[in-house]
Amino acid sequence: MKDCIFCKIVSGEIPSKKYYEDDYCFAFADLNPQMPFHALIVPKEHAASLAELDNLSDAALAACLRAAQKIAEQNNITDGYRFISNCGKHASQSVQHLHFHMLAGRQLSEKIV
Ligand code: AMP
Repeated sequence: MKDCIFCKIVSGEIPSKKYYEDDYCFAFADLNPQMPFHALIVPKEHAASLAELDNLSDAALAACLRAAQKIAEQNNITDGYRFISNCGKHASQSVQHLHFHMLAGRQLSEKIV
């Protein structure tokens, strides 16, 4: 989609540190990491958020979820990670292209917020 920053990262128009790619999804380092390891996993097809999945294939959605296991293996993440997606205003979603944060590298609290 025109003017979508994550679509531009997927196409290579905007550079990123790539962690993983397959036919359906793309994963790259967050520009402002909040953990020692902070990746973003996005579908290559554009969907705005988890609240707008009508145009996203199940294959693309599944690929995003399955990517985390592969990224963990490739980056020696053996002690777990948090996997979250901010959806909409109350979650403070700032980029309107569906993405999953994969956060790892230190102990997180038991509570999500
Ligand atoms: P959210 O607040 O859940 O929408 O997360 C958006 C994330 O995208 C933030 O963690 C930003 O740091 C990250 N971000 C924004 N622009 C870029 C970029 N060009 N490359 C990598 N990460 C980015």
